[in-house]
Amino acid sequence: MRSYFIAGNWKMHKTVAESVALAKELKDKLAGCSEKVLVAPAFTSLAAVAEVLKGSSILLGAQNMGPEEQGAHTGEVSVLMLKDLGVKAVILGHSERRHSYLEGDALVNKKVLLALKHGIEPILCVGETLEERESGKLEAVIGTQVREGLKGVDEGSLKAVTVAYEPVWAIGTGKTATPEDADAVHAYIRKVLAGLYGEQAAKAVCIQYGGSVKPDNVAALMAKPNIDGALVGGASLKTESFVPIARFR
Ligand code: PEP
Repeated sequence: MRSYFIAGNWKMHKTVAESVALAKELKDKLAGCSEKVLVAPAFTSLAAVAEVLKGSSILLGAQNMGPEEQGAHTGEVSVLMLKDLGVKAVILGHSERRHSYLEGDALVNKKVLLALKHGIEPILCVGETLEERESGKLEAVIGTQVREGLKGVDEGSLKAVTVAYEPVWAIGTGKTATPEDADAVHAYIRKVLAGLYGEQAAKAVCIQYGGSVKPDNVAALMAKPNIDGALVGGASLKTESFVPIARFR
């Protein structure tokens, strides 16, 4: 049976105590869940949430990481520090990082390669703005983000990569791409991957959809052939919404 990858991005929300409380509830309510589930708390809560998740199948994720292993990089958190805490996957190139902190494809690619080098699964986020979509640049933008983000990633390492398609106009706005629109972009991402790695390898890549995923739209999105999971922001902050998303079937 196909297993979906449902990830919760807690963004810059929740104190350590609040994160622990949410993680405890999720551990309890998602016990035995058949999907691959991950939560990505803020850096400050990673250690405490790691402790709570011990013995659970919920994986620990991070929302970002620095592009170097260590050194004089004030304010950054390194891949080695994440690994030390038991982080299994890291969200890279999220649109909030690309747009608010001007992270470009080359920087994102450096982080993708570094995560893979240390056995942390990168979740490479790609997505177009409304203006790019409306001016017919969707495929060019997505194609570039995928190709540049994966530069230097060999076929063997591709298995560890998740691509998250997150149309910027659908993030935190309540607007969701229709399942058909999302699936069409996912199919295009797979075509780009096939051009880089061949059909077989491209088929095996997990492509998540992200952008206002909620309990009432998740099943229709996941029913599409090219949608393999969800990256969830706002709705991952409460058990009442994240649990039904992770248990959508
Ligand atoms: C996100 O930030 O990755 C996201 C998809 O947010 P939301 O679900 O709130 O749209």
